Amino acid sequence: MTGHPTAAPTARTAIVIGSGFGGLSLAIRLQAAGTQTTLLEKRDKPGGRAYVYEDQGFVFDAGPTVITDPSALVELWTSAGRRMEDYVELLPVSPFYRLCWEDGYAFDYANDQGELDRQILAKNPADVEGYQRFLAYSREVFREGYLKLGTVPFLHFRDMIRAGPQLAKLQAWRSVYAKVAEFIEDEQLRQAFSFHSLL
Ligand SMILES: Cc1cc2nc3c(=O)[nH]c(=O)nc-3n(C[C@H](O)[C@H](O)[C@H](O)COP(=O)(O)OP(=O)(O)OC[C@H]3O[C@@H](n4cnc5c(N)ncnc54)[C@H](O)[C@@H]3O)c2cc1C
Repeated sequence: MTGHPTAAPTARTAIVIGSGFGGLSLAIRLQAAGTQTTLLEKRDKPGGRAYVYEDQGFVFDAGPTVITDPSALVELWTSAGRRMEDYVELLPVSPFYRLCWEDGYAFDYANDQGELDRQILAKNPADVEGYQRFLAYSREVFREGYLKLGTVPFLHFRDMIRAGPQLAKLQAWRSVYAKVAEFIEDEQLRQAFSFHSLL
């Protein structure tokens, strides 16, 4: 990997296997920290699940549709002594995505609370209030699970024990679908709000 280390190079070297977002960001951090890094990828180009491929003249994005945490990317560029805006421009998209079912029902997921409420009301009025409670629960999960625990390495069993009370409070052992079903009645709305762990 070529790089412009922000720290003085050391004699240490590293090999990172796999050039998905995870491998790429690790290799960038290592290189920026002065460790001469080689990034290995078994496919013909980097990207992993974010691979882009062409078939019969069409271009396909194999995975991600939206950047769910832009601040993580900004932080990565900063760690390498660069400014993200000098390389890429992130654009708002609306809706984020459209979910379509075989029976013709479609749900647009957008960063617009009024629009979401309108769609939920049209599908199942009882779920408007449940969705509000689900949002409150999700905020807590984001605060505890992502902001607080997202950067904590779980290298020892005791690290997991330490996080136990927070995880137990949020019932982290339950599936997302099971949790959503506590708040939302309608089956298609349950599906619409259950798959985000993919992102
Ligand atoms: C359909 C779909 C939609 C998604 N949508 C979003 C979204 O909208 N927003 C979002 O933020 N995230 C989204 N995600 C999630 C996101 O794409 C992944 O979390 C992320 O790309 C995973 O990166 P990774 O580096 O952990 O793993 P991967 O991307 O799986 O990378 C692993 C890499 O390692 C390589 N590799 C494996 N074994 C070897 C080996 N032995 N030698 C060399 N190379 C090897 C693989 O070829 C691959 O390139 C989506 C994922 C999918 C599948």
